[in-house]
Amino acid sequence: MHHQATEFPTYRGAMEYFCLGCGARFPINELHYTCPECGGVFLLKDTTFDSLKERSGQEWRDLLDARAMAKSPALRGIFRYYELMAPVADQEDIVYLGEGQTPIVSFSPTMKDELNGQTGGFKNDGQNPSASFKDRGMACAFSFLNYLCRTQDIDEILAVCASTGDTSAAAALYASYTGSRIKSAVILPQGKVTPQQLAQPLGSGAQVLEVPGVFDDCMKVVEYLADNYRVALLNSKNAWRILGQESYAFEVAQWYDWDMDGKCVFVPIGNAGNVTAIMAGFLKLHRLGIISGLPRIFGVQSHHADPVYRYYSVEDATERHYEPVKVQASVAQAAMIGNPVSFPRVKHFAERFEAIGGKRAFQVIQVTEQEIMDSMLQANRNGHIACTQGGECLAGLKRARQLGLIDTEETAILDATAHMLKFIGFQDMYFSNTFPEEYGVSPETAMANAPRLAIDASEKTALSEKEYTAKAAANVVSMLGLKAK
Ligand SMILES: *Cc1c(COP(=O)(O)O)cnc(C)c1O
Ligand SMILES: [Zn+2]
Repeated sequence: MHHQATEFPTYRGAMEYFCLGCGARFPINELHYTCPECGGVFLLKDTTFDSLKERSGQEWRDLLDARAMAKSPALRGIFRYYELMAPVADQEDIVYLGEGQTPIVSFSPTMKDELNGQTGGFKNDGQNPSASFKDRGMACAFSFLNYLCRTQDIDEILAVCASTGDTSAAAALYASYTGSRIKSAVILPQGKVTPQQLAQPLGSGAQVLEVPGVFDDCMKVVEYLADNYRVALLNSKNAWRILGQESYAFEVAQWYDWDMDGKCVFVPIGNAGNVTAIMAGFLKLHRLGIISGLPRIFGVQSHHADPVYRYYSVEDATERHYEPVKVQASVAQAAMIGNPVSFPRVKHFAERFEAIGGKRAFQVIQVTEQEIMDSMLQANRNGHIACTQGGECLAGLKRARQLGLIDTEETAILDATAHMLKFIGFQDMYFSNTFPEEYGVSPETAMANAPRLAIDASEKTALSEKEYTAKAAANVVSMLGLKAK
């Protein structure tokens, strides 16, 4: 049928930066981070996108399904959706480290019961190579940097980010793979990151530079570099990252055979890049007729960092008013942001979502820190691998149910944005009841789990090897209440 579907696509788009603040447009042969005219955030537009409508929705679905068989590494990840992604890169530009094509794992039977029969599952974006969804954006950003170096004959670019968490882990990983032309550095506030947050960029061999102060001090240093040197900034204002993250939407649609009827997608909101990208992705599919309706999007925020929730909680759109909030300690640490840089992007795409899908097409739910922790532990006791932000999505689903915003027959797709292991310190605090007060989390003792000693160490020297084994085994039998066969 499509015997060419598995070959590298021939289509090339004409992309440009488009400023959401003032509407200015800039060519992509230069590195841009924010608008030089007004400081606004960019989107990337393919000005020949409408020519893609020459294929019908059915033809696109067939093509994309057939391309799932492609053997070229360049088409196995997020660039499976090449024409909708960054259709300027050549095959040799594309960096593939195994990102994307993450599974949606249905709620375990027990959890489905606990959720009163709710249909749904977690999309495990923690199964990306650096264990968070940030890899989707980095794969696109680094592929673009390769394209830029090749076409503009650039022999060196410095890729830099100020971050303490998943962004630096992803950036350092992709930079260490990409090698020579793209040098990378991560700038961190000295002494303000945990050993775990340092481990990934250090392990990738990144140049990790410390600045005494807080995250904002690092951000200012990085922005100074971007203004005065040829530096690619990899923070989430970077429009190429947003573009790569659209792949999440494409995968969700394809997973359900392009049928978005009754689908509800739950996304945690921090800097709001991810929810933006997911809405942008579904809108692209809709424009090409690849999906005939939109899913509903539920953004989720903690009551300790909820500026987007507060904005949308005002029913009358003309009365809404955006204001940054002062954040409090949050277990959804990767989403603990009081003034999200992508807020203008959210507004832009939410309006388009509502224009097509009606008022219930985009909603923001607020949850408590306690609910986030309890939900994460519940998910992981049921065979899932949710991080705290994944727990936030589950808490959001429960709240949406309470508010009557979603039916059991609808399918809830929860974004587990990172692997549970990345945020395991919060599980430790819960189990050992050592949460600092500012989080407002009181552990439910029944949930706590700790190893139990099966036999005392002193027995090791007192008993023969055989007796020691027999005694340890006997103790295990009684601790587990086993019956002989
Ligand atoms: C970055 C991040 C988020 C927040 O995403 P935004 O795009 O900033 O809204 C949520 N969860 C994890 C694990 C992250 O790394
Ligand atoms: Zn502008």
